[in-house]
Amino acid sequence: MLAKNIGINEKGHLTFAGADTVDLAKEYGTPLYLVDKNGIIDRAREYMSAAETYLGAGSHPCYAGKALCYTDLYRTLEDIGMWIDVVSPGEFYTAKKAGFDLSRAMFHGNNKTDDDLKMALSMGVGRIVCDSADEIEALDQIAGELEKKPKILIRLTPGIDPHTHKSINTGTVDSKFGVAIETGDAKKLVAKTLEKKNIELMGYHCHIGSQIFECEPFCEAAEKMLTFMADMKKKLEFEAKEINLGGGMAVPYLESDKKISYTENIKAVGVCIDALLEKLSLNRPVFYLEPGRSIVADSGMTLYTVGTVKCIEGYKNYVSVDGGMTDNPRFALYQSPYTLINASHADIAPDFTATVGGRCCESGDLIQENVNLVRPVRGDTLAVLTTGAYNFSMSSNYNRLTRPALVTLFNGESYVAVKRQTFEDMTALDI
Ligand SMILES: *Cc1c(COP(=O)(O)O)cnc(C)c1O
Repeated sequence: MLAKNIGINEKGHLTFAGADTVDLAKEYGTPLYLVDKNGIIDRAREYMSAAETYLGAGSHPCYAGKALCYTDLYRTLEDIGMWIDVVSPGEFYTAKKAGFDLSRAMFHGNNKTDDDLKMALSMGVGRIVCDSADEIEALDQIAGELEKKPKILIRLTPGIDPHTHKSINTGTVDSKFGVAIETGDAKKLVAKTLEKKNIELMGYHCHIGSQIFECEPFCEAAEKMLTFMADMKKKLEFEAKEINLGGGMAVPYLESDKKISYTENIKAVGVCIDALLEKLSLNRPVFYLEPGRSIVADSGMTLYTVGTVKCIEGYKNYVSVDGGMTDNPRFALYQSPYTLINASHADIAPDFTATVGGRCCESGDLIQENVNLVRPVRGDTLAVLTTGAYNFSMSSNYNRLTRPALVTLFNGESYVAVKRQTFEDMTALDI
């Protein structure tokens, strides 16, 4: 099985975190998001312990909430003392509502508005990751007005393509995010920031990409960042105290995907870092990581009810479900792979190849093409695995479909963490 929270029970039904998915579909209705809370806690703790052990005391992961964000999840993260990465005032608000201590929050974004910056400062945000010279000017002024002195990191583009990491891809210099080391802009901005009265520069941030299985791109990023840190120490007498290496560790979506150990990857990055600090004669900074996908993806599952099953002789078989690109736009956006299982008959070998589509008025509204399933009939429960990241958070009301409920599974119990949207909810702001 793809993950250890997936199983099959004596009825032949698929189970998730020990619960019968066919029963859950009946009890809560479909489409339905499931979240295995124990799975998220375990993965978050794995990251916390690996960061502390291999990257140095005080180092820690900041969960990137853009992957999955709702109030109850922030309560869980607050309980275990996790840091978070937020990208919008809406994410701030959600965390605040959960009682999350925002001094453990890192605020990102390539275009934070003045209002965003004011909100962040008034809520006592832990760190602001500044993206540009313009933002630093604005922040210095706003911080002065509010009589605050925020701690910031500067986002750098280290010029690394994680997928062809041997060659330095100058293409990443051409990005809407961050300032480039290569062009000299980063150094100029550090010098300028050090002159600001109302800002405390703590160090540097980078984020090199997503769905990265290897540790080499992270080692390469660490090398760029620490080399830059050493350069600024020499040229500007500023030795950074903090380095944020961003997110991006991969998640297996298919049985054929490589398995990944986050602890082993962090350990390997730690070895690179130890050598670099020695070579460059630097004091050890605190390191941050920003995992999003890898904290939540395999703790999520989506359940649908099968509707029409249509076989076009000589072409394809189509299975239609009661959700689609509204609850999971990722196949429509970038053909993301997923594993699908007929949850009503999980104990039988798949015998049917089908393209699974949603109910939206778009031909591209597909969940997956050409998957092998136990031939479903109307009313069967269909499960899509590993949907914890970038599904709920990217959902929409396209075609005026209401958003699914999100049910949390925890210690053998289940509860609704986000209610199913009603027609009334959906039209509440219409006048
Ligand atoms: C998207 C993003 C992350 C999280 O990436 P994952 O691939 O989900 O781990 C972390 N930091 C920043 C700045 C991001 O944009």
